[in-house]
Amino acid sequence: MKIMVTGGAGFIGSHIADACLAAGHAVLVLDDLSSGKRENVPAAATFVQGDLRDAQLVERTLAEWKPDVISHQGAQTSVSVSAREPNRDAEINILGTLNLLNSAVAHKVAHLVFASTGGAIYGEVPDGQLAALDWLPKPISPYAVSKFAVENYLRSYRVAHNLRSTVLRYANVYGPRQDPHGEAGVVAIFARRLLANEPIRVNARVEQGDAGCVRDYVYVDDVVRANMLAMQGALPSDMINVCTGVPCSTLELAQSLRELTGSSSEIGYGPCREGDVQRSVLEVGDPSPLGELVPLQEGLAKTVAWFKENA
Ligand code: NAD
Repeated sequence: MKIMVTGGAGFIGSHIADACLAAGHAVLVLDDLSSGKRENVPAAATFVQGDLRDAQLVERTLAEWKPDVISHQGAQTSVSVSAREPNRDAEINILGTLNLLNSAVAHKVAHLVFASTGGAIYGEVPDGQLAALDWLPKPISPYAVSKFAVENYLRSYRVAHNLRSTVLRYANVYGPRQDPHGEAGVVAIFARRLLANEPIRVNARVEQGDAGCVRDYVYVDDVVRANMLAMQGALPSDMINVCTGVPCSTLELAQSLRELTGSSSEIGYGPCREGDVQRSVLEVGDPSPLGELVPLQEGLAKTVAWFKENA
């Protein structure tokens, strides 16, 4: 197959591009390098540096390369940037995506897989519960609103234009190549600081000194597998949560990573961060559409090993 990966210079997209090439597919990466890195793009992939907001460039790329399938990972990914600049977020995440959808319809793309967010779309998930696909999304940040908007556009394009699509709602993804400078990548931030023996900070869930917010951390290889299965049409439905269903507090994460790195860093405590959801843990589904998932300790060990080598 010919597979176009938007955002393929970023953390998740570059792993998807690697996996597609390893499976024998031809890959084109479209990325404006706003947060992605050129060196993340595999050498065997065709690379187009361009902005999803540029409708002509998107159209030209699809007209010339004619992908069979698109894995759409490219996005403005910061929740706090979206709060500060909601228009910019919508221009990239909604209008940029519509450019892609319009060209996908025009050039008869067989299937589009969309990176949505389970971490942000469901809002607060009460203790003891798991956010399920049939929950009504309650997006709060403009970022989550833009992802939910695209999910709805995809339904509309499915009906109106017969564009086949799959929505993958990712929990908190971690793994090699995650950018420690980004705000979402707490694993990357902690791993880098711990390896440098710098102090790390657990922001409060409710009160300073508590164990921090609770998240569902999913290893990037499982996210890649979800994308590969989706592109092959091998998932049981057109929307799944890509998650583990296992809750982990920021303090538990910090302690695990400190142990794995052998660091002497101090763990400090900060106040609540504005806009942080207190608890977000998602339901995997029964049976799990992805089968066995990488356990947190194993994924963290692989991630730490990568950060050690690439410090
Ligand atoms: P990332 O920032 O590493 O990757 C995003 C890529 O998109 C970058 O390479 C960036 O340069 C590119 N990009 C941004 N704006 C663009 C534009 N206008 N035109 C072309 N390319 C553009 O982030 P990531 O963590 O790899 O996220 C990949 C996808 O997964 C995103 O859609 C994100 O919203 C989604 N997601 C990620 C997580 C997570 O925990 N990392 C969770 C839920 C959803």
